[in-house]
Amino acid sequence: MMETPSNRFTALSLTFISILFGFIITIANGHESPEKTSTHGTTDPKPLQFSSSSSFKIALFADLHFGENAWTNWGPWQDINSLRVMSTILDLERPDFVVYLGDLVTANNLPIPNASLYWEKAISPTRDRKIPWASLFGNHDDMAFEWPTEWFTSGIPQIRCPPPSNCVFSGGGECSFRGTNRVELMNDEIQKNGSSYSRIGPEDLWPSVSNYVLQVSSSNDSKSPVAFLYFLDSGGGSYPEAISNAQARWFQNVSQELNPQSRLPEIIFWHIPNEAYKEVAPKNGIQQPCVGSINLEAVAAQVAENGIMDLLVNRTSVKAVFVGHNHGLDWCCPYNKLWLCFARHTGYGGYGNWSKGARIIEMTEQPFSIKSWVRMEYGIQHSEVVILSSCDDQLLPFPVIWNIGVFFVAFLTSIHSFHCI
Ligand SMILES: [Zn+2]
Repeated sequence: MMETPSNRFTALSLTFISILFGFIITIANGHESPEKTSTHGTTDPKPLQFSSSSSFKIALFADLHFGENAWTNWGPWQDINSLRVMSTILDLERPDFVVYLGDLVTANNLPIPNASLYWEKAISPTRDRKIPWASLFGNHDDMAFEWPTEWFTSGIPQIRCPPPSNCVFSGGGECSFRGTNRVELMNDEIQKNGSSYSRIGPEDLWPSVSNYVLQVSSSNDSKSPVAFLYFLDSGGGSYPEAISNAQARWFQNVSQELNPQSRLPEIIFWHIPNEAYKEVAPKNGIQQPCVGSINLEAVAAQVAENGIMDLLVNRTSVKAVFVGHNHGLDWCCPYNKLWLCFARHTGYGGYGNWSKGARIIEMTEQPFSIKSWVRMEYGIQHSEVVILSSCDDQLLPFPVIWNIGVFFVAFLTSIHSFHCI
């Protein structure tokens, strides 16, 4: 584009305004102390960072269900297909980070003492590409093996019982496989993988384990947070499918400490949808303002609501919740001021023949925005939704702007609107 005097004037004005506002915003908010984010043991000493192009892209891999029916042909075959789906999507989208959104394995189908073998397989496409990731638990990850009843009518396959320490004996020498518990699975992942950002949450929240927060930092300062990612364990498997009131309190305390004025956006991840998803679920098809491509089953919600949703709704910095669990749903719907989104069934394992894919989340740093879409295993992309527009001025400090004058706000808004997503 040719440079004209009016262009020059606009450019100079914008530069002046950004410097002025940068100064005011810095004074208004102060700098976040890096120590703040390391006192819990819940955030990482090497924070995730926006790229130099100001974006941070996350791929959600949901419900892979590795390890089903290893004694048949179709079990191993579907794991190979799941690896292919993940590899295709990683190569097409080239995300900065991957979230494994639970049900990585179907432990109730695993007649082996250590499910970590399959867990490692599930994370291998991401690890092989040197992309960092974090994982959380679904309801199938730590289940005990369920002996198929048909084995007892057609001959039990040659399965070697594990040694006594991994085995619960009952009666005359039979054994069952107890499943690999959440702490064992997470420990194994963390110890074997330097690129894992997964964490074992505070012990006072056990048996729920995948409760932690990660900071995403500015592209030019690894200590300056731009957004926070919260991971919660929604239960299931060895204990009820619910987020406890202790987890809700933990979220309240940590978010208040890390982000006291709710100035920075927060995104939440867990596995099993809750009652709020039922409330917003589209009835027939998917109508606006919901966005998605499949709405083919009822929401299978957690068994109890213990306060987490009230906290999220009343915290303006929370922009969206992402869950998996329902393989036949991939929509996002607004709920008060935040978005409730399903991922997309990524694995060939688990129920349902719907084609596979992954939900992608992309944030931009300046101006801040969040959008999301679904990328399918065969390459197409659909269901794009703007979670937080760059025009959304919730992130600007209202009182400061207000003092400068309504005229200035109107002027800024008119410039800003040319760059909205
Ligand atoms: Zn599942």
